[in-house]
Amino acid sequence: MRKLVFATNNDHKLRELQEILSAEFELLSLNDIGCTDDIPETGTTLEVNAAQKSFYIWDKYGINCFADDTGLEIEALGNEPGVYSARYAGEGRNAEDNILKVLEKMKNETNRNARFRCIISLIINGVEHQFEGVVEGTILAEKHGEAGFGYDPIFRPNGFSQSFAEMSAKDKNQISHRGRAVMKLVDYLKNI
Ligand code: IMP
Repeated sequence: MRKLVFATNNDHKLRELQEILSAEFELLSLNDIGCTDDIPETGTTLEVNAAQKSFYIWDKYGINCFADDTGLEIEALGNEPGVYSARYAGEGRNAEDNILKVLEKMKNETNRNARFRCIISLIINGVEHQFEGVVEGTILAEKHGEAGFGYDPIFRPNGFSQSFAEMSAKDKNQISHRGRAVMKLVDYLKNI
């Protein structure tokens, strides 16, 4: 089984991705390689942040790896929260606070269009390759469902009647931004 470091300590994301990649790869987390550093994410775009994380691991450990960076882009808010999705309600606040901030800002908005965009930065032997996954959808007026994480309860993908938080992980993976970016990553890795 080929090993790849996924530059994350988010167990939820690791499990989600390991499920998608299980036949081809064994994923190692930052904990698995003994990396406890606070990896900088100072870019203003998803592309820059993803590359910053993957190059950090490559430069320090010299192991093939990938990092992802995701943002929720809401049209009516000028693509906010975007690169700031994790800390939209401020440092030290949680997903619930972020959701409340979005719901408040969207209270009187009729344009509910939004997308999740995920960038994966893969480094193989020092060379970077990027993959993008996008899912278009709608910001709901209130929370629906308990599954998933982050903004899942208020995001309903186009063509579906359930929010991401009402779907099983398997169903979400098939259409999600990260699922789509990972499929491109897997296609690439299978052919090298
Ligand atoms: P990250 O770059 O994947 O860590 O994502 C940044 C932030 O975007 C997370 O802290 C979540 O708030 C949000 N996010 C990323 N992926 C998802 C998802 O699949 N569902 C809901 N929210 C997500």
